[in-house]
Parts: sequence; structure tokens; C-alpha cells
Amino acid sequence: MVQKNHGPCSVQNCNNQVTRFRQFTSLAYEKAQKKGTYEAHTYLRIGQQLCHSHYMSIVEPYHTQKSEVPFFLEPDKENSNQSKSYSFAEQVTMLTKVLYEQRGNLELNPTYFKQMIEKADPHLQGLFDKLVKALVPDNRSAYNKVKARKTIMSLCYIMAGMRNKFVNDFKLEVGLHLSASGANTCCN
Ligand SMILES: [Zn+2]
Repeated sequence: MVQKNHGPCSVQNCNNQVTRFRQFTSLAYEKAQKKGTYEAHTYLRIGQQLCHSHYMSIVEPYHTQKSEVPFFLEPDKENSNQSKSYSFAEQVTMLTKVLYEQRGNLELNPTYFKQMIEKADPHLQGLFDKLVKALVPDNRSAYNKVKARKTIMSLCYIMAGMRNKFVNDFKLEVGLHLSASGANTCCN
């Protein structure tokens, strides 16, 4: 026979205004012991009644940390994490979108280019520097580093062009600009 749970809550000084009660079963007791929450309520005995919120905080503590929000409504941890670092592929996708949106004004100064993409999409912060770090050896001369940054900027346009035919339209234009400005170090 299923006994109906109607309280009162056995936790000392409980004044939760709830209408749902649950029984402190032997399984619940085991869980509370495992989770260390029983230590604070050692007066509880199996078979006693707990209000829903006390039951959750004592027996299912990991489900209640976000108060009464149902488990399935909790924000996705990955999406809510502001400092999530994006994969390279994800960043290239964002870069493509930004360069597509900026296709009317081609930026050919690497410093402004970096600022432009990071301003357009803050998730792109660090991408340009990462590419520089990965592709330009530290022992290059300062002059060569400047040239290399230009090449990396054109690489950004080319990567975006590979993902998006619209961006691709001005790939040639970029190449021409870069060789005119002496940045073409790879393809002569
Ligand atoms: Zn209670």
C-alpha cells in the first residue's frame, strides 16, 4: 500500500511553504549518507516526512543547487560559460561571417584587420594572434614579422574564401593588393 505523504517536514525549524512531501526512505537515507548531507540532520529517521525542498537538498543535493529549476531547464553548461574557448573550425566559421559582412571594405592593414574582426565578433579575440604565434617564428626579423602578419591576414581572407564563395570573389583582389604592398612572400 502506498502511503500518502502529507508532512509535516521533519527537518528542524522547517517553515517551507510547500505542499509536496516525500518520505525519507532507506534509499534516501543511503543517498544522504553518501553525499554527506546526513551529517547535518542526524536526527532524521527512515520513514519520516520531508518537504520537497528539504528532500531535494538532503537526498539529491546535486539537483537542487540551482534551486527549483527543473533539471532539464537548467542552462546548458557549455552555452552559459562565458569563457568558453572556441575550436579553430568554429572561429573560422565566425571569421567567414565577419569577412562576408565586411566584404565592401577590405581591410589590408593587419593591425586594423585584427581590430576589425575582433570588434565585429568578440569571439574572434585572439584568433589572429594565435595564427601569428603558430606561423611566425620568434626569430624572424621585425621587418619579416610585419610582412608575415600581412600574409596571415591574406590567409584569413583565403580561409574565409574556401568556406564561402561570396568572400571568395575578392580573394584575387586581396592577392593583388598584397603583392602591390610587398607582402607576398609565398607565391611568386
Ligand atoms: Zn522542510
